[in-house]
Amino acid sequence: MAEFRRGLAGPVRLLLPGDIPADEVGDLVLLDEAGQLHDEALDLGLEHLVPRAAWDEHWSWARVSAEQEERRVYEVLRRLPPKEYAKVRGLLVRHTSGELIRLRRVWDGMLSQLDFYEPVSAWSWCQVRGYWFACPLCRWPMRVNRAGAVWEVRCEAHARDGVIYTCNPDRAADRAPRLQPAGAAATPVRATPATAEHLALARTTWRYVTLPGLLECGLRDHARSLGARVTMWPHKDRYDLKISLGGRVWKVDAKAWASVTKLGDALKDTDPAEPGLIIVIPDHQRNSRELLQKMIGRRGYRVLTGSGLIAELTSGKAAQR
Ligand SMILES: [Zn+2]
Repeated sequence: MAEFRRGLAGPVRLLLPGDIPADEVGDLVLLDEAGQLHDEALDLGLEHLVPRAAWDEHWSWARVSAEQEERRVYEVLRRLPPKEYAKVRGLLVRHTSGELIRLRRVWDGMLSQLDFYEPVSAWSWCQVRGYWFACPLCRWPMRVNRAGAVWEVRCEAHARDGVIYTCNPDRAADRAPRLQPAGAAATPVRATPATAEHLALARTTWRYVTLPGLLECGLRDHARSLGARVTMWPHKDRYDLKISLGGRVWKVDAKAWASVTKLGDALKDTDPAEPGLIIVIPDHQRNSRELLQKMIGRRGYRVLTGSGLIAELTSGKAAQR
């Protein structure tokens, strides 16, 4: 039992018997240093609808609020006229956090009506002595792991890309805490006071709207740099990007689910919104691409990673010459 309990803080594949393949969840860690469920584990649980009893006992509020919040956000988005829809989706990618006064300006009267943000002051998980830090890639608050004398600060989504810092909370206690880079993508970030005047998107919105949106915007920028014509969210939420280059058209839906098999389950019984629709998954899920293709290919979907789509666009451009 003690060994099992220790195992809960390590990769899941070490907990499983040797003859059970861990596949896509092999590297997942269930509990953090404080014994709390890791966010990725929670996302997986929500996507898999893990048998209720376990959640109800410990995390029912999180489960219910995440589902309700996601549904609410999509209902708000769906009610918008097509032009506003694309604008709002863009703002949800670019402005994941910020000062109230600035957010009011960029949202131009829509901020209070849409109700997407929460005050960072209410979130102790991202604070060091009353300050918080925005991820340099997605600008959402980074998580603080308070273990030992030196704390770790990392973006839940971008730690795998190297957005990891350390922070000594006791050092220079009369000034704002400073982060030391500890990962390849840890560019300098400044501490921001966690006051009620600083807001960030609710976690569910960041997780299921902003993260795929970042992937979509990255693909858009790359396609445009190749000379492609790109329309974002051309028919609201039917699909995400329409890319035209050298007489060819790519219709793309970007998905950033924690579980690729669950994404496959969700898609395998529905026809593509457009013939030949391409489902793009993040590069870090490249090992699951073939599996997903097998699950949903019969329906007419094609599955590519972000890099795979860019490679196709690049060779499409080369053929055009
Ligand atoms: Zn991030």
